[in-house]
Amino acid sequence: MICIYCLHNKTVTPNSRPHKKSAQVWRRRHCTECSRTFTTYERPSLEDVMVVAQDSTKERFSIGRLTISLHQSLSSQQDAATSSYELAQTIELHLLQRYDITTPITSSAIADEAYRTLRRYDELCGLQYGASHGLIASIRRRGRPSTTATNADDVPVRD
Ligand SMILES: [Zn+2]
Repeated sequence: MICIYCLHNKTVTPNSRPHKKSAQVWRRRHCTECSRTFTTYERPSLEDVMVVAQDSTKERFSIGRLTISLHQSLSSQQDAATSSYELAQTIELHLLQRYDITTPITSSAIADEAYRTLRRYDELCGLQYGASHGLIASIRRRGRPSTTATNADDVPVRD
């Protein structure tokens, strides 16, 4: 691996250890040119997995897209950008543990996992995500009778 400071093309790894509970490896890297050290993490990625949307279109999993969709529900939080990226990594790991990734995964499975993870992180952010992704019944499901329905539910909601 190249050095992040001087871009020298060779670093050595004097120390590495696997994470105790998840498929991650921590590595301490040392540059033989400038003598500085830095840390890397190696973890599995879903980036080769195809995601099937509700309209049956397929595209590759993108942790960037997941991060952005989480960020919209975290906008009231401090450090929303960092938190949404860290949460996206957690969700990616959960998906890797939970699903057979040799076959495509549905966008609704990703949304469900994101909803569960976000609710553990912050109840309000989780509910906001659930509402904006249609995971919470009766809030935004339109054109359908609901047990709590009044006619107002059939009026499109404007954000
Ligand atoms: Zn260097």
